[in-house]
Amino acid sequence: MCTPRVFLSLLLPGVLIAGCSETRPKTLDELYEEERQLPAVFLTAESGKRITAPGNTGVFVDEGSGELAWRALICTNPDCPATPPTGEEPFLFIAVDPALVAQPDGTVGYDRSRVDEADNYFGNCPECLKTRNLAGESDEDRQRYSNWATPYVLPETAQRREELAEARKQREAELQERMGRTD
Ligand SMILES: [Zn+2]
Repeated sequence: MCTPRVFLSLLLPGVLIAGCSETRPKTLDELYEEERQLPAVFLTAESGKRITAPGNTGVFVDEGSGELAWRALICTNPDCPATPPTGEEPFLFIAVDPALVAQPDGTVGYDRSRVDEADNYFGNCPECLKTRNLAGESDEDRQRYSNWATPYVLPETAQRREELAEARKQREAELQERMGRTD
């Protein structure tokens, strides 16, 4: 027979462990900060090396290759020629600003003389570009293609984002309730 006393002693180690560990819920700021730092995919400009880094990292110099690494983009055009079969990772590309350069000391430099090298289709999907009739395109079409390029979000990041949004909602509701009580 399991008497209440035995039952309690079985539970106790778990209670102690829970009591010692950090159980304080995250603040809203911490939840936002975690979201900003969720992993994202970057690709280097020349060799296309894939790197996973916090999503709030800007353009950076990859230590191994010495190349600039840029945030990976995807094309959301439903008729994109590079659309992969369902379930496969989308085609990734990058928008390279020619004025940013990798410096030997590992920092990102700015080359003013290269500013004009950026073309009108900066950031557009390169696969769609191959099939577009650029001369005959309307402004609306051009804008649509531009909007179709969007940062790639890793499946695990998308999932964690949803959890964080839910956690924020809870925190906000708790804060609201607490404020209501002091009125
Ligand atoms: Zn495309």
